[in-house]
Amino acid sequence: MLTGRRYRLEFDAGQRLSAERIAAVCRSVWNTALEQRRAYRRRSAFIGYAEQCRQLAEAKKDFPWLAEAPAQALQQTLKDLDAACRRHGTCKVRWKTRTRWRPSFRFPTPKQIPVQTINRRWARVFLPKFGWVRFRLSRPLGGAARSATVSRDGAHWFIAFLVEDGQSTPDAHARPETAVGVDRGVVTAAVTSDGEFFDRRHATACGVSSFEPPETGTADRAPDRGYLSPGEAERYLRLQRRLARARKGSARRRRVVRALGVVMGRVRRRRADFNAQAAHRLTRDYAHIVLEDLNVRGMTASASGTAAAPGARVAQKSGLNRAILDKGWYGLEVALRAKARYTGSVIDKVPAAYTSQTCSAPACGRVDAKSRESQAVFRCTACGQVEHADVNAAKCIKIKGQAAGPVVSGRGDLGGARVGEASSTRSTARGAPRAAA
Ligand SMILES: [Zn+2]
Repeated sequence: MLTGRRYRLEFDAGQRLSAERIAAVCRSVWNTALEQRRAYRRRSAFIGYAEQCRQLAEAKKDFPWLAEAPAQALQQTLKDLDAACRRHGTCKVRWKTRTRWRPSFRFPTPKQIPVQTINRRWARVFLPKFGWVRFRLSRPLGGAARSATVSRDGAHWFIAFLVEDGQSTPDAHARPETAVGVDRGVVTAAVTSDGEFFDRRHATACGVSSFEPPETGTADRAPDRGYLSPGEAERYLRLQRRLARARKGSARRRRVVRALGVVMGRVRRRRADFNAQAAHRLTRDYAHIVLEDLNVRGMTASASGTAAAPGARVAQKSGLNRAILDKGWYGLEVALRAKARYTGSVIDKVPAAYTSQTCSAPACGRVDAKSRESQAVFRCTACGQVEHADVNAAKCIKIKGQAAGPVVSGRGDLGGARVGEASSTRSTARGAPRAAA
């Protein structure tokens, strides 16, 4: 199946400059071509990829700077624009602004980007307009490259290969009967119905740790506190304050933005690492993985906020903190789906309404907001079962996922969804709340 492999390129100063230049040319071609498409659209006409390609070749005679970029990278830009316009509609496709765009360009033809291994640690790739560029072979390429995208992330340039790795999704998961529910913990990033806590703070060490009480102090106010050390969080907040004072367009502001980018890049990489490790363990151990559906919970949270006793979660996961949690959660789902292609696991999503208030004991299932004794403790008001609140919620999520019937694991679908499943948000017996007496 197709997969991505990303490596850091070792550009010299000159190559870095021309990469910046090529990306800028691609950006302006994107913006000009988009403007042209919109102009045609305004007078109810249409211009397509083929015609724009022809005009681009013509424009190269008048604007020699267009030739600074490799021809195929420019064509690919037009092709990407074409795809974007088809998918989203010409008027909704975004301009690539200098601040909001990550510089990148793509080489679509494998023949023009040959890769050679130099030794166990290093390889090199030939890029048109660049010549041979070395990159650290941090992991084997594991197949033939189909295409390559060169992009800058912070101060460094990277190359991402699209690789056919020759593997396929197994017919069935190695442990076919296994199932797990996964809940977003309040303190730890993810909690399973088997009582496993995936903690992002220890993501680099082992991926899993036992439950720890929440941290307090300045670190709490920084984004993704779990991914930053207290010192880093401190620095982040200091930079934020400095940014607020810096004048727009000043050199000082640019410096602060760059420094913030370094911190945020660290967060991004740690989060990706955590997601990859958690996804690896979950897909290896379970054939059926049930997650909570975020959008549904968002709706129920605002709705139940008006009730007499709003769920404890409404306050805990509010505002920006919650938005950040949601973002990380989506990343985990993406990572799970990617890994599930190799193990044959099925990823399911269920509405998370009332999972934090429902008793997970098989014979009970009572829904009562009062059962949620505190952030960490769930004590059922009906049967008296005591459980860690997040584990209880994860168990409810698993029950909901299984109530929809058995899953067909394996290669039913590339995405690993249930075969014949139209919507991931089906309602089950436990989905409807039973009123607490
Ligand atoms: Zn109970």
